[in-house]
Amino acid sequence: MKKKIKTIGVLTSGGDAPGMNACVRAVVRGALKEGLEVYGIEHGYQGMIQGKMRKMNWKSVSGIMHQGGTILKTARSERFRTKEGREIAYNQLRHYEIDALVIIGGDGSFKGALEFSSEFDIPVIGCPGTIDNDIFGTDFTIGYDTAINTAMWAIDKIKDTANAHDRLFFVEVMGRDAGFIALRSGIATGAESVLVPESSTDINRLIAKLERLYQVKQRSCIVVVAEGDEMGGAFEIAKKVGQRFDKYDIRITILGHIQRGGSPTCMDRVLASRLGLEAIRGLLDGQREVMVGKICHDIVFTPLEKAVKHHHELNPVLLDIIDILS
Ligand code: ATP
Repeated sequence: MKKKIKTIGVLTSGGDAPGMNACVRAVVRGALKEGLEVYGIEHGYQGMIQGKMRKMNWKSVSGIMHQGGTILKTARSERFRTKEGREIAYNQLRHYEIDALVIIGGDGSFKGALEFSSEFDIPVIGCPGTIDNDIFGTDFTIGYDTAINTAMWAIDKIKDTANAHDRLFFVEVMGRDAGFIALRSGIATGAESVLVPESSTDINRLIAKLERLYQVKQRSCIVVVAEGDEMGGAFEIAKKVGQRFDKYDIRITILGHIQRGGSPTCMDRVLASRLGLEAIRGLLDGQREVMVGKICHDIVFTPLEKAVKHHHELNPVLLDIIDILS
Protein backbone atom coordinates (compact mmCIF):
# COMPACT_ATOMS: atom_id res chain seq x y z
CA MET A 1 0.00 0.00 0.00
CA LYS A 2 1.20 3.50 -0.81
CA LYS A 3 2.41 5.56 2.14
CA LYS A 4 0.10 8.44 3.05
CA ILE A 5 1.57 11.83 2.23
CA LYS A 6 1.67 14.18 5.21
CA THR A 7 4.48 16.62 4.43
CA ILE A 8 5.62 17.92 1.07
CA GLY A 9 8.63 19.90 -0.10
CA VAL A 10 8.49 22.39 -2.96
CA LEU A 11 11.44 23.80 -4.85
CA THR A 12 12.26 25.82 -7.96
CA SER A 13 15.20 24.64 -10.07
CA GLY A 14 17.16 25.57 -13.19
CA GLY A 15 16.63 28.97 -14.80
CA ASP A 16 14.10 31.25 -13.11
CA ALA A 17 10.88 31.96 -14.96
CA PRO A 18 8.15 34.55 -14.31
CA GLY A 19 5.18 32.81 -12.74
CA MET A 20 7.24 30.48 -10.54
CA ASN A 21 6.04 32.45 -7.52
CA ALA A 22 2.40 32.01 -8.46
CA CYS A 23 3.08 28.29 -8.75
CA VAL A 24 4.81 28.13 -5.36
CA ARG A 25 1.85 29.97 -3.85
CA ALA A 26 -0.63 27.53 -5.36
CA VAL A 27 1.36 24.50 -4.22
CA VAL A 28 1.73 25.85 -0.68
CA ARG A 29 -1.86 26.96 -0.25
CA GLY A 30 -3.29 23.96 -2.07
CA ALA A 31 -1.34 21.65 0.23
CA LEU A 32 -2.26 23.55 3.40
CA LYS A 33 -5.94 23.38 2.42
CA GLU A 34 -5.55 19.59 2.23
CA GLY A 35 -4.11 19.53 5.74
CA LEU A 36 -0.52 18.84 4.63
CA GLU A 37 2.60 20.42 6.05
CA VAL A 38 4.79 22.23 3.54
CA TYR A 39 8.47 23.05 3.38
CA GLY A 40 9.89 25.45 0.83
CA ILE A 41 13.34 24.23 -0.21
CA GLU A 42 15.60 27.15 -1.12
CA HIS A 43 18.10 27.18 -4.02
CA GLY A 44 16.73 24.09 -5.77
CA TYR A 45 18.56 20.77 -5.48
CA GLN A 46 21.62 22.49 -4.08
CA GLY A 47 19.57 23.76 -1.15
CA MET A 48 18.05 20.31 -0.69
CA ILE A 49 21.56 18.91 -0.21
CA GLN A 50 22.39 21.74 2.18
CA GLY A 51 19.17 21.32 4.17
CA LYS A 52 17.79 24.77 3.34
CA MET A 53 14.20 23.91 4.26
CA ARG A 54 11.77 26.64 5.31
CA LYS A 55 8.42 25.77 6.90
CA MET A 56 5.69 27.51 4.91
CA ASN A 57 2.38 28.88 6.09
CA TRP A 58 -0.44 30.78 4.40
CA LYS A 59 1.32 34.13 4.89
CA SER A 60 4.68 32.88 3.58
CA VAL A 61 3.34 33.21 0.05
CA SER A 62 1.36 36.46 0.44
CA GLY A 63 1.95 39.27 -2.04
CA ILE A 64 4.27 37.34 -4.37
CA MET A 65 2.01 36.74 -7.41
CA HIS A 66 3.23 39.78 -9.31
CA GLN A 67 6.93 39.28 -8.63
CA GLY A 68 9.29 37.79 -11.20
CA GLY A 69 12.08 35.44 -10.12
CA THR A 70 11.35 33.01 -7.32
CA ILE A 71 11.04 33.64 -3.59
CA LEU A 72 12.52 30.17 -3.04
CA LYS A 73 15.58 31.12 -5.14
CA THR A 74 16.88 28.72 -7.73
CA ALA A 75 20.19 27.12 -8.59
CA ARG A 76 21.96 24.64 -10.81
CA SER A 77 23.61 21.91 -8.77
CA GLU A 78 26.52 19.81 -10.01
CA ARG A 79 26.50 17.89 -6.75
CA PHE A 80 22.96 16.66 -7.30
CA ARG A 81 24.16 14.98 -10.49
CA THR A 82 26.20 12.63 -8.30
CA LYS A 83 24.80 9.68 -6.38
CA GLU A 84 26.55 10.90 -3.25
CA GLY A 85 24.87 14.32 -3.54
CA ARG A 86 21.43 12.80 -4.04
CA GLU A 87 21.90 10.55 -1.03
CA ILE A 88 22.68 13.55 1.18
CA ALA A 89 19.58 15.29 -0.25
CA TYR A 90 17.44 12.26 0.57
CA ASN A 91 18.73 12.17 4.16
CA GLN A 92 17.83 15.84 4.50
CA LEU A 93 14.27 15.08 3.35
CA ARG A 94 14.04 12.27 5.89
CA HIS A 95 15.28 14.58 8.61
CA TYR A 96 12.39 16.95 7.89
CA GLU A 97 10.00 14.02 7.34
CA ILE A 98 9.20 15.22 3.83
CA ASP A 99 7.20 12.50 2.05
CA ALA A 100 6.84 13.97 -1.45
CA LEU A 101 8.29 16.68 -3.69
CA VAL A 102 6.92 19.22 -6.12
CA ILE A 103 9.64 20.34 -8.54
CA ILE A 104 9.07 23.53 -10.52
CA GLY A 105 11.61 23.73 -13.35
CA GLY A 106 12.67 22.72 -16.83
CA ASP A 107 13.60 19.41 -18.40
CA GLY A 108 17.00 19.27 -16.68
CA SER A 109 15.25 19.57 -13.32
CA PHE A 110 12.90 16.76 -14.35
CA LYS A 111 15.83 14.53 -15.32
CA GLY A 112 17.21 15.10 -11.84
CA ALA A 113 13.80 14.35 -10.31
CA LEU A 114 13.57 11.07 -12.24
CA GLU A 115 17.04 9.99 -11.20
CA PHE A 116 16.23 10.82 -7.59
CA SER A 117 12.91 9.00 -7.48
CA SER A 118 14.40 5.91 -9.13
CA GLU A 119 16.94 5.67 -6.32
CA PHE A 120 14.77 6.63 -3.36
CA ASP A 121 11.20 5.93 -2.52
CA ILE A 122 9.88 9.47 -2.73
CA PRO A 123 7.01 10.55 -4.98
CA VAL A 124 7.81 13.52 -7.18
CA ILE A 125 5.64 15.63 -9.41
CA GLY A 126 6.86 18.31 -11.81
CA CYS A 127 5.40 21.66 -12.83
CA PRO A 128 6.91 22.97 -16.10
CA GLY A 129 8.57 26.29 -15.25
CA THR A 130 10.86 27.60 -17.98
CA ILE A 131 10.73 30.50 -20.39
CA ASP A 132 11.80 28.19 -23.26
CA ASN A 133 8.46 26.36 -23.69
CA ASP A 134 10.44 23.31 -24.81
CA ILE A 135 8.76 20.70 -22.63
CA PHE A 136 6.67 17.88 -23.99
CA GLY A 137 3.29 17.37 -22.30
CA THR A 138 2.01 20.92 -22.07
CA ASP A 139 1.01 23.55 -24.62
CA PHE A 140 2.77 26.24 -22.63
CA THR A 141 5.28 26.34 -19.82
CA ILE A 142 5.14 28.77 -16.92
CA GLY A 143 7.12 31.90 -17.83
CA TYR A 144 6.94 31.55 -21.60
CA ASP A 145 4.10 34.01 -22.12
CA THR A 146 5.87 36.71 -20.11
CA ALA A 147 9.14 36.09 -21.96
CA ILE A 148 7.57 36.42 -25.42
CA ASN A 149 5.79 39.59 -24.39
CA THR A 150 9.06 41.02 -23.07
CA ALA A 151 10.82 40.08 -26.31
CA MET A 152 7.99 41.61 -28.36
CA TRP A 153 8.10 44.82 -26.36
CA ALA A 154 11.88 45.10 -26.83
CA ILE A 155 11.79 44.31 -30.56
CA ASP A 156 9.04 46.91 -31.09
CA LYS A 157 11.40 49.53 -29.71
CA ILE A 158 14.30 48.29 -31.82
CA LYS A 159 12.02 48.46 -34.84
CA ASP A 160 11.42 52.15 -34.23
CA THR A 161 15.09 52.93 -34.39
CA ALA A 162 15.60 50.53 -37.34
CA ASN A 163 12.96 52.53 -39.22
CA ALA A 164 14.30 55.90 -38.20
CA HIS A 165 17.87 55.10 -39.33
CA ASP A 166 17.17 52.70 -42.21
CA ARG A 167 18.92 49.77 -40.59
CA LEU A 168 18.89 46.00 -40.59
CA PHE A 169 18.82 44.63 -37.05
CA PHE A 170 19.68 41.10 -36.01
CA VAL A 171 18.00 40.58 -32.65
CA GLU A 172 19.07 37.57 -30.62
CA VAL A 173 16.55 36.10 -28.20
CA MET A 174 16.87 33.22 -25.74
CA GLY A 175 16.44 29.60 -26.82
CA ARG A 176 19.49 27.34 -26.78
CA ASP A 177 17.59 24.33 -28.08
CA ALA A 178 14.22 25.73 -29.04
CA GLY A 179 12.92 28.56 -31.20
CA PHE A 180 9.60 29.21 -29.47
CA ILE A 181 10.53 32.67 -28.17
CA ALA A 182 12.04 33.67 -31.54
CA LEU A 183 9.08 32.45 -33.53
CA ARG A 184 6.28 34.07 -31.56
CA SER A 185 8.09 37.35 -30.93
CA GLY A 186 9.06 37.42 -34.61
CA ILE A 187 5.48 36.98 -35.80
CA ALA A 188 4.20 39.51 -33.29
CA THR A 189 6.64 42.20 -34.42
CA GLY A 190 6.35 41.56 -38.15
CA ALA A 191 9.98 40.44 -38.44
CA GLU A 192 11.29 39.80 -41.94
CA SER A 193 12.91 36.53 -40.92
CA VAL A 194 13.18 34.23 -37.89
CA LEU A 195 16.06 31.78 -37.47
CA VAL A 196 15.50 28.86 -35.12
CA PRO A 197 17.45 25.74 -34.11
CA GLU A 198 14.62 23.46 -35.28
CA SER A 199 15.13 24.26 -38.96
CA SER A 200 18.42 24.64 -40.79
CA THR A 201 19.31 28.20 -41.67
CA ASP A 202 19.88 28.80 -45.36
CA ILE A 203 22.08 31.87 -45.54
CA ASN A 204 21.67 32.14 -49.33
CA ARG A 205 17.92 32.24 -48.93
CA LEU A 206 18.14 34.85 -46.19
CA ILE A 207 20.41 37.07 -48.32
CA ALA A 208 18.14 36.62 -51.35
CA LYS A 209 15.20 37.75 -49.27
CA LEU A 210 17.03 40.81 -47.96
CA GLU A 211 18.09 41.70 -51.51
CA ARG A 212 14.54 41.39 -52.73
CA LEU A 213 13.29 43.60 -49.90
CA TYR A 214 15.99 46.17 -50.65
CA GLN A 215 14.99 46.25 -54.30
CA VAL A 216 11.40 47.05 -53.38
CA LYS A 217 12.74 49.93 -51.29
CA GLN A 218 12.30 48.44 -47.86
CA ARG A 219 15.02 50.21 -45.96
CA SER A 220 14.74 48.63 -42.51
CA CYS A 221 14.45 44.99 -41.52
CA ILE A 222 14.35 42.84 -38.40
CA VAL A 223 15.78 39.33 -38.28
CA VAL A 224 15.08 37.49 -35.03
CA VAL A 225 17.68 34.86 -34.17
CA ALA A 226 17.29 32.20 -31.49
CA GLU A 227 20.59 31.94 -29.59
CA GLY A 228 20.85 28.23 -30.41
CA ASP A 229 20.55 28.59 -34.19
CA GLU A 230 23.06 26.21 -35.75
CA MET A 231 24.63 28.98 -37.90
CA GLY A 232 25.74 30.72 -34.73
CA GLY A 233 24.25 33.60 -32.79
CA ALA A 234 23.23 37.02 -34.11
CA PHE A 235 26.85 38.27 -34.38
CA GLU A 236 27.96 35.33 -36.48
CA ILE A 237 24.99 35.48 -38.83
CA ALA A 238 25.15 39.27 -39.19
CA LYS A 239 28.82 38.94 -40.14
CA LYS A 240 28.07 36.33 -42.79
CA VAL A 241 25.28 38.44 -44.27
CA GLY A 242 27.30 41.67 -44.16
CA GLN A 243 30.23 40.08 -46.02
CA ARG A 244 28.01 39.22 -48.98
CA PHE A 245 25.36 41.95 -49.02
CA ASP A 246 26.44 45.35 -47.75
CA LYS A 247 23.56 47.59 -48.78
CA TYR A 248 22.06 47.60 -45.29
CA ASP A 249 23.56 49.31 -42.30
CA ILE A 250 23.63 46.35 -39.90
CA ARG A 251 23.20 46.42 -36.12
CA ILE A 252 23.00 43.62 -33.58
CA THR A 253 21.12 43.47 -30.29
CA ILE A 254 21.26 40.63 -27.79
CA LEU A 255 18.18 40.81 -25.57
CA GLY A 256 19.72 38.58 -22.89
CA HIS A 257 18.45 38.33 -19.36
CA ILE A 258 15.66 40.88 -19.58
CA GLN A 259 13.67 37.99 -21.07
CA ARG A 260 13.78 36.07 -17.79
CA GLY A 261 12.67 38.71 -15.35
CA GLY A 262 9.69 40.94 -14.76
CA SER A 263 6.18 40.69 -13.50
CA PRO A 264 4.41 37.65 -14.98
CA THR A 265 1.56 38.16 -17.43
CA CYS A 266 -1.99 37.26 -16.49
CA MET A 267 -1.72 34.10 -18.57
CA ASP A 268 1.39 32.92 -16.73
CA ARG A 269 -0.12 33.66 -13.32
CA VAL A 270 -3.28 31.74 -14.11
CA LEU A 271 -1.42 28.81 -15.67
CA ALA A 272 0.99 28.64 -12.73
CA SER A 273 -1.85 28.76 -10.19
CA ARG A 274 -3.71 26.01 -11.96
CA LEU A 275 -0.72 23.70 -12.42
CA GLY A 276 0.46 24.20 -8.84
CA LEU A 277 -2.92 23.27 -7.46
CA GLU A 278 -3.28 20.30 -9.80
CA ALA A 279 0.15 19.05 -8.72
CA ILE A 280 -1.15 18.73 -5.16
CA ARG A 281 -4.38 17.08 -6.31
CA GLY A 282 -2.37 14.69 -8.47
CA LEU A 283 -0.06 13.73 -5.63
CA LEU A 284 -2.98 13.03 -3.32
CA ASP A 285 -4.68 10.99 -6.07
CA GLY A 286 -1.60 8.77 -6.32
CA GLN A 287 0.13 10.34 -9.34
CA ARG A 288 3.86 9.59 -9.21
CA GLU A 289 6.84 10.62 -11.35
CA VAL A 290 4.70 12.73 -13.63
CA MET A 291 4.60 16.28 -14.88
CA VAL A 292 1.39 18.23 -14.76
CA GLY A 293 0.63 20.18 -17.92
CA LYS A 294 -2.24 21.78 -19.75
CA ILE A 295 -3.13 20.71 -23.28
CA CYS A 296 -5.98 22.64 -24.89
CA HIS A 297 -8.24 23.10 -21.87
CA ASP A 298 -7.37 19.87 -20.09
CA ILE A 299 -5.01 19.08 -17.28
CA VAL A 300 -2.75 16.24 -18.37
CA PHE A 301 -0.30 14.14 -16.34
CA THR A 302 2.65 13.01 -18.47
CA PRO A 303 5.21 10.53 -17.12
CA LEU A 304 8.44 12.42 -16.42
CA GLU A 305 10.26 9.80 -18.47
CA LYS A 306 8.22 10.81 -21.51
CA ALA A 307 8.40 14.55 -20.77
CA VAL A 308 12.21 14.50 -20.82
CA LYS A 309 12.59 12.15 -23.80
CA HIS A 310 10.24 13.81 -26.25
CA HIS A 311 10.48 17.25 -27.78
CA HIS A 312 7.80 19.85 -27.92
CA GLU A 313 7.68 20.63 -31.64
CA LEU A 314 7.35 24.08 -33.17
CA ASN A 315 4.12 24.52 -35.05
CA PRO A 316 5.10 24.56 -38.79
CA VAL A 317 2.08 26.73 -39.56
CA LEU A 318 3.62 29.49 -37.45
CA LEU A 319 6.92 29.18 -39.31
CA ASP A 320 5.08 29.60 -42.61
CA ILE A 321 3.44 32.80 -41.38
CA ILE A 322 6.78 34.60 -41.35
CA ASP A 323 7.53 33.66 -44.95
CA ILE A 324 4.09 34.48 -46.25
CA LEU A 325 3.70 37.83 -44.52
CA SER A 326 7.12 39.38 -45.09
P1 ATP B 1 15.99 25.71 -17.88
O1 ATP B 1 15.08 25.11 -18.92
O2 ATP B 1 15.55 27.04 -17.44
O3 ATP B 1 17.46 25.64 -18.24
P2 ATP B 1 16.32 23.28 -16.37
O4 ATP B 1 15.52 22.68 -15.29
O5 ATP B 1 16.37 22.55 -17.68
O6 ATP B 1 15.81 24.77 -16.56
P3 ATP B 1 19.10 22.57 -15.82
O7 ATP B 1 20.24 23.44 -15.41
O8 ATP B 1 19.25 21.79 -17.06
O9 ATP B 1 17.82 23.53 -15.84
O10 ATP B 1 18.80 21.54 -14.62
C1 ATP B 1 18.63 21.98 -13.29
C2 ATP B 1 19.33 21.07 -12.33
O11 ATP B 1 18.77 19.74 -12.40
C3 ATP B 1 20.83 20.84 -12.61
O12 ATP B 1 21.64 21.88 -12.11
C4 ATP B 1 21.09 19.55 -11.86
O13 ATP B 1 21.26 19.77 -10.48
C5 ATP B 1 19.77 18.78 -12.05
N1 ATP B 1 19.92 17.79 -13.13
C6 ATP B 1 19.83 17.98 -14.47
N2 ATP B 1 20.04 16.83 -15.14
C7 ATP B 1 20.29 15.88 -14.21
C8 ATP B 1 20.59 14.48 -14.26
N3 ATP B 1 20.66 13.82 -15.41
N4 ATP B 1 20.77 13.84 -13.07
C9 ATP B 1 20.67 14.49 -11.91
N5 ATP B 1 20.40 15.80 -11.80
C10 ATP B 1 20.21 16.49 -12.92
